[in-house]
Amino acid sequence: MRMVLLGAPGSGKGTQGEKLVAHFGIPKISTGDALRAAVAAGTELGLKAKAAMDAGQLVDNAIVIGIVEERLNQPDARKGFILDGFPRNTAQAEVLDEMLQRLGQAPIDRAVHLAVDDEEIIRRLLDRAEKEGRADDKEDVIRHRIKVYNDETHPLLDYYAKQDKVRTVVGVGGLEEIFQRILEALK
Ligand code: AMP
Repeated sequence: MRMVLLGAPGSGKGTQGEKLVAHFGIPKISTGDALRAAVAAGTELGLKAKAAMDAGQLVDNAIVIGIVEERLNQPDARKGFILDGFPRNTAQAEVLDEMLQRLGQAPIDRAVHLAVDDEEIIRRLLDRAEKEGRADDKEDVIRHRIKVYNDETHPLLDYYAKQDKVRTVVGVGGLEEIFQRILEALK
């Protein structure tokens, strides 16, 4: 299973991604987690990414594409993977398709879209800000991240719909309930 998780920040991609990891026994590749780790470790890549992340902007395509290619090349990703937070724009989606071909891997099977409305997203992210204290979970940055999602990432639904790969799942309800909807949508 080669899967892309699509959905606004706070739509549950990380949480549901973990459940999918346990279910399918394939790795989750999260560019946000990888970037936060690079920032925390103070690497050159982290330094380059930090300003964009703190402002809720997208990090340069070249940086995130490099992260994904390196990870996809590792042996455990050969039988499948779950992409969380990548691709984030059409250019990244095109590079991903080309990359899988170049690496001799099968194409993406499904793009699962977790649909959650903006007000619920803001509520969840403000709640996460209190609990986890993520640098980009502040109200003005949250609103900007939602705008970036709507402007740049949401159009990917069209990109994957043209390949007949999109399955939309309502991302509101109990965690297990949402997970069962995803499994149903993947059948
Ligand atoms: P996330 O944890 O997926 O919400 O990502 C947190 C932040 O990391 C985003 O707001 C972006 O600044 C950056 N980021 C994560 N994934 C990408 C990506 N695929 N392209 C560009 N920037 C990204």
